[in-house]
Amino acid sequence: MPQFLTLSVSFIEYVVPKIRLLSPEVRSKIAAGEVIIRPSSVIKELVENSLDAGARRIEIEIEAGGKKKCLVNDNGCGMSREDAILSVERYATSKINNIEDIENISTFGFRGEALASIAQVSHFELETSNGEEGTRILIEGGEVKKIIQIYREKGTRIKVSSLFFNLPARLKFLKSDEYERRLIVDVVKTYSLISPEVQFILNEGNRILLSTPVVNDLKLRLHQLYSEELTRKLLPFELKVGEITFSGFISSPDFNEKHNLSYIFINNRPVKYPRLFRIISEVYQQPKSPPAFLLNIVVPPSMIDVNIHPTKNEVKIKEERYVVDILTQGIKKLIHPGSSPVDFIPLISRNGKEITNTKFVQEPLVPYQETQSKTVSTARENVEFWQLHNTYILAQTASGMIIVDQHVAHERILYEAILNNRASSQRLLFPITLELTPEEYKVYDKVKDTLLSMGLDFKEFSGRTLVIDTLPADSRATREDLRELFDDIGTPGVPMNDRKEIAKVIACKMAIKAGQRLSQLEMQSLIDQLFACENPFICPHGRPIVIKISLDELGSRFGR
Ligand code: ADP
Ligand code: MG
Repeated sequence: MPQFLTLSVSFIEYVVPKIRLLSPEVRSKIAAGEVIIRPSSVIKELVENSLDAGARRIEIEIEAGGKKKCLVNDNGCGMSREDAILSVERYATSKINNIEDIENISTFGFRGEALASIAQVSHFELETSNGEEGTRILIEGGEVKKIIQIYREKGTRIKVSSLFFNLPARLKFLKSDEYERRLIVDVVKTYSLISPEVQFILNEGNRILLSTPVVNDLKLRLHQLYSEELTRKLLPFELKVGEITFSGFISSPDFNEKHNLSYIFINNRPVKYPRLFRIISEVYQQPKSPPAFLLNIVVPPSMIDVNIHPTKNEVKIKEERYVVDILTQGIKKLIHPGSSPVDFIPLISRNGKEITNTKFVQEPLVPYQETQSKTVSTARENVEFWQLHNTYILAQTASGMIIVDQHVAHERILYEAILNNRASSQRLLFPITLELTPEEYKVYDKVKDTLLSMGLDFKEFSGRTLVIDTLPADSRATREDLRELFDDIGTPGVPMNDRKEIAKVIACKMAIKAGQRLSQLEMQSLIDQLFACENPFICPHGRPIVIKISLDELGSRFGR
């Protein structure tokens, strides 16, 4: 992969990469779509481009909440005339070349779609210079009107006026100036929080909406944007575990004010990650108001999927359970120091390589959910879990022990969730493209409506190409599993109009497999969900899920 500029401070030396058009093959794999839905999406894309271009000063001007005008002016690397002309083409990007590059993405952008999409739906003016030649390009509704040579200092200025002038339906969907302005302020604030080394200025008319001079650390940036009261209550947080680093600030448990500081970044990319938000709040054990936090999780790029959604603010950590475990324990240690005995938890990555040997506070596992049934809580005082051969979960119960087969347990959970319409969906960062065989396509065609109703979603392309972009939440399915899904549904004897049969196949393909390592939290969650099922003991195919061994039985076998 060429030397691209990174998102953080440390990119003094880099070669300005050239813009190229992505090959049709790569295009199909990053199957994106519309990303520009309102003025704040324009600002987000332009600010990301400025940061990717290494800008240290980003000036933003808006009018009428961005509906009339969004202007972003930066002092980044700028573009040559040739690159400027290419930059407004769809799938033109300097940030990736081939599909493998996505695995190692270190820039905000990579789809090469934003400028083209914006220029399609606005009056678009691009002025740029790489320090050698300056270029101005005018585009109206996607039509290039003018390309001229200009003089300007190094950097890029993009003015987007009359957004959606040619899309009245989209225009109608926009809200008040006030509302749209608030979203823009939010976007700029978010990016300014992850780049204290960059000066941001956001104006509307003569009104300065946000101004953050360059500072050299995040704490000072927080001071620029939040009240003294809040920043005083923030505890710095830094935890390095193997290749993963967590850093940021978290409010102390006695902080009880209203606030709007709750940010998660992964590799500096602002993300929506409801699960992590929930986990952080849970550690505080029912606070009066939610904790304030800003957390940046830095992981090797290959450990995350950023291709779930075109707006790129959804990502998925591939080793999510570890990250959740480490985070929970790290925060607990920070906010309740000296609370518990220290235990040694070696974390082993799925490929068997040891990630770390760090010491953690081993707390009692997450508090029980109120929803637990009586049988479960009596069966599970003093909970601890062990995983045997990455396949079975062993747990102590009041009267002895249980052994649970993790795959069939998850299968049962998913099966009931699907049939009771409780399965929520998760959007994939990297939609999975399948070229179906004629047989598979026939099966797909018959069952697609059922699949849709069960939490999957997909787009059909020409021929027999299927892009699957949504799966039931918590799915562990790989591309192979999805391919097998159609084969299995098409097995002679499986009635394709029987929802239960199809749900069985989906549950089986999406479930945790034997051989997958699970964290304590994962095991806990699996067991909790299993015992909340109507039938926790038998899997949809009729195999046992739980084997119980009583203390009496153990005693008699040991001749007690
Ligand atoms: P992407 O960011 O996904 O590559 P965009 O459509 O946002 O796609 O931008 C296309 C290309 O134009 C980028 O890859 C980059 O090379 C160039 N570009 C866009 N904005 C700027 C900017 N502010 N400064 C320098 N180059 C830019
Ligand atoms: Mg971009």
